[in-house]
Amino acid sequence: MKAVAAFPEAREVRVVDHPIPTLSAPDHVMIRMLEIGICGTDREICTFEYGTPPPDDDHLVIGHEALAEVVETGPGVRRLRPGDLVIPSVRRPCRHPDCRACRSGHQDYCYTGDFSERGIKDAHGYMTEYAVDLERYLSLVPPGLHEIAVLTEPLTIAEKAMEQIFWLMQQRPPWIDFQAPPDERGRGLSALVLGIGPVGLLGAMTLAVSGFTTYVYSREQPPSPRTDLVAQIGATYISTQASSFDELAELIGNIDVIYEAVGHSHFALEALGVLGTNGIYVMTGVPGLQDLVQADPAQIMRDMVLKNQVLLGTVNAGAEAFASALRDLERFAGRWPEVVGSLIAGRFPPEQAFELVLGRPRGIKTVITFEDTGP
Ligand code: BGC
Repeated sequence: MKAVAAFPEAREVRVVDHPIPTLSAPDHVMIRMLEIGICGTDREICTFEYGTPPPDDDHLVIGHEALAEVVETGPGVRRLRPGDLVIPSVRRPCRHPDCRACRSGHQDYCYTGDFSERGIKDAHGYMTEYAVDLERYLSLVPPGLHEIAVLTEPLTIAEKAMEQIFWLMQQRPPWIDFQAPPDERGRGLSALVLGIGPVGLLGAMTLAVSGFTTYVYSREQPPSPRTDLVAQIGATYISTQASSFDELAELIGNIDVIYEAVGHSHFALEALGVLGTNGIYVMTGVPGLQDLVQADPAQIMRDMVLKNQVLLGTVNAGAEAFASALRDLERFAGRWPEVVGSLIAGRFPPEQAFELVLGRPRGIKTVITFEDTGP
């Protein structure tokens, strides 16, 4: 079967012929890959800055944002049936008996660092025709979400962050009301999203659908399809070319949440300076090597202490985040049907994966499909 693979030693990315996997455990499920989203992590893998092939292999089959159809199930599979649409998660647990996170099914919090990630670290991914996974790593897609379900995995970044933001806010002023309907929990609070790529936009949608007054700040000059999308979800787009961080802070007032989705360390650090009192700053980017900058750690410390600030790093994601991502995709589709229709920029065959991964990102999300894409 076809697969798109990166060969770090040979520094090549190409379509290879890979063996079809087989079911070898009772709770194994064979899935046929329908769509695989491309993201910044794939680009880093294909420029050989990140990612590791499975031990004893010279290549890594890439792809971790997947939508698939169940084609065969082992005798121990209870929840899934052939024909079901599913989303696989990415992280798999380490083997250390004393890793409390992995042993309790929370490998996204692995202590040892010896976890694997499909399509990223030590395990082949999903940019291929078939894959086999344990049932517990597959989330069932509800009917009606086929068109956008491939966005589930990138959305889990925001979902895991929101879970923690809400928990923290419940403990601290202004003590959000957890009994409030889900779309009103953020009412009266301001959120600033850094970055207008897929992670930033999905983060902005999650914040906006929860009632936060949401701002997106990035380099892009409006108007563009992405800045239009920001307006369509009722958020405000501000370009770095139009306003400095200080002007932004003046405009917004107290910034309760900053959601970083740029992976640019200087920019991220500068933004910390405008985080408001009792503010929560969430970092989601994984920057490669970048230039050193001068910073004023004393000022950062003063602000964090005197303003009760929280700085939170988060990597996706556990089963709950996948479940809430699927629920939120339904909410997005109900609230912004025209936006949801424009989220997928295009579907392309695997032979084009290389140029798409390395080229300038198109639209919101570019997807590889092993199904016929037509003439
Ligand atoms: C993936 C995560 C992964 C992270 C770090 C992201 O692109 O979505 O599942 O944990 O990269 O490797």
